[in-house]
Amino acid sequence: MPKRAKLVVGNWKMHGRLAENATLLQAVAQGTGELPADVRVGVCVPCPYLAQTQSLLEGSRVMWGVQDVSAFTHGAYTGEVAASMVTDFGSTLAIVGHSERRAYHRESAELVAVKTQRVLEAGLTPIVCVGETLEEREADLTEQVVGAQLDEVLVKLSEQEAARIVVAYEPVWAIGTGKSASAQQAQAVHAFLRSRLAAKGAAVADVPLLYGGSVKPENAEELFGQMDIDGGLIGGASLKAQDFLAICKAAGAISVSG
Ligand code: PEP
Repeated sequence: MPKRAKLVVGNWKMHGRLAENATLLQAVAQGTGELPADVRVGVCVPCPYLAQTQSLLEGSRVMWGVQDVSAFTHGAYTGEVAASMVTDFGSTLAIVGHSERRAYHRESAELVAVKTQRVLEAGLTPIVCVGETLEEREADLTEQVVGAQLDEVLVKLSEQEAARIVVAYEPVWAIGTGKSASAQQAQAVHAFLRSRLAAKGAAVADVPLLYGGSVKPENAEELFGQMDIDGGLIGGASLKAQDFLAICKAAGAISVSG
């Protein structure tokens, strides 16, 4: 039986406009009111909508944040958004190292580690994404790849800092494809990541480990029921209030207090 509290976070990616966001955020704020107390919910939105998100979610149990931050604290970095800036809008979460940023923006493991440090310095919770491509899985390199991605971050952090991160295992081949990892495949990688975290220190062993990649209302409960899966990072399904809430409810059904 899972022993850690559940966390479900939506990653809106580059989707949303003011009117549709308002409908979605209001539905999520309202629909999460009934969840067991130990299920935590968040949404990571495009930066221009942070003020709107803050005004609609303040007072609800839903946390919010961003999908990336700059590796710099401030200065002449046109187009960048500093972690400290997003705290001005009540954000508490920041995704770093999403595979889309690693692939399309050539973000290295080292850059992801620096961004994680910036997020922690700003007092936010970093959601550090790791995951292998299909080629890497087929070459039996999954543990080597995700282990190296995680280690690059852990090596730059103290044990106390590392205890404040969240890790999301997102196999690249499962993101946006409709083809989730099976619960067994995901649990095996999570158990491996858990052992890597535990090696950093006792305080790090229970860091929340989210699974991401085509989570839907139909597969959420089985995934979240695995020993080392503490919730999910949800892309496409987080844009539909009904689906996102059904996934949150699945987390509630198997939560510690649910
Ligand atoms: C993601 O992009 O983080 C993700 C998990 O996407 P999806 O749920 O759409 O596969």
